[in-house]
Amino acid sequence: MTSHSIFYGEDRIDFQTVTLTDYPKRKVAIHVHPDGSVQVDAPSETTDLEIEEAVRKKARWVLKHITEAQQQRAQVLPRQYISGESYFYLGRRHILKITEEPIEKASIKMLRGRLEVRCETGNPGIIKDLLRGWYRKRAKEVFQRHLHAQVEQIPWLKSPPPWKLVVMQKQWGSCSPKGKLSLNPHLVKAPRECVDYVLLHELCHLKEHNHSDRFYRLLDELMPGWKAVKGKLDGMAELLLNE
Ligand SMILES: [Zn+2]
Repeated sequence: MTSHSIFYGEDRIDFQTVTLTDYPKRKVAIHVHPDGSVQVDAPSETTDLEIEEAVRKKARWVLKHITEAQQQRAQVLPRQYISGESYFYLGRRHILKITEEPIEKASIKMLRGRLEVRCETGNPGIIKDLLRGWYRKRAKEVFQRHLHAQVEQIPWLKSPPPWKLVVMQKQWGSCSPKGKLSLNPHLVKAPRECVDYVLLHELCHLKEHNHSDRFYRLLDELMPGWKAVKGKLDGMAELLLNE
């Protein structure tokens, strides 16, 4: 998944490109997610230029849907990216503290229950991007570490499967038929046991590709209390998925 943007008049459209190697249709598909983010699905042979052209062609439609999504979300759970708001990391709430100062490179530090952002500007859009990048980085580290730890406990697995971060609106993870995992970076906001539950669930799909009895038996063996953990995660979903 890679980030791109195009300009349409005065509007900038940021979007993530998802390259699909086993894409059934040779066509670019554009999605505007409920949080206003834009996803472009493209077959692997599509060039960046072709993708940008496809987005530009539908720019009006995309902008309209981004606005609608943002308006709807603002009514549900407004986030303003200002000091005092809380942000989750591994199940713990951290209070955002933004310090505006003339520094070249913005930084984010987690310290005693606080998430401290130092930045040239408190512009909410910029803070939002910084936080998103920070969560992705943390997610990569945490998931990698947990996957390695789990592999050691799973007799039938020699090494962690390939995986990537994919922002999904309703799913924490998925496993492709080829055995590649997609993991939602928002999951790093959830408690560690929830992270483990999702990883184990997806790892079990390497052996059982559906939700059969055999699949659940496998999951039961690896994490006997997974149902409770799942319930906990389900209950936090809206909160954690609200960027
Ligand atoms: Zn599943």
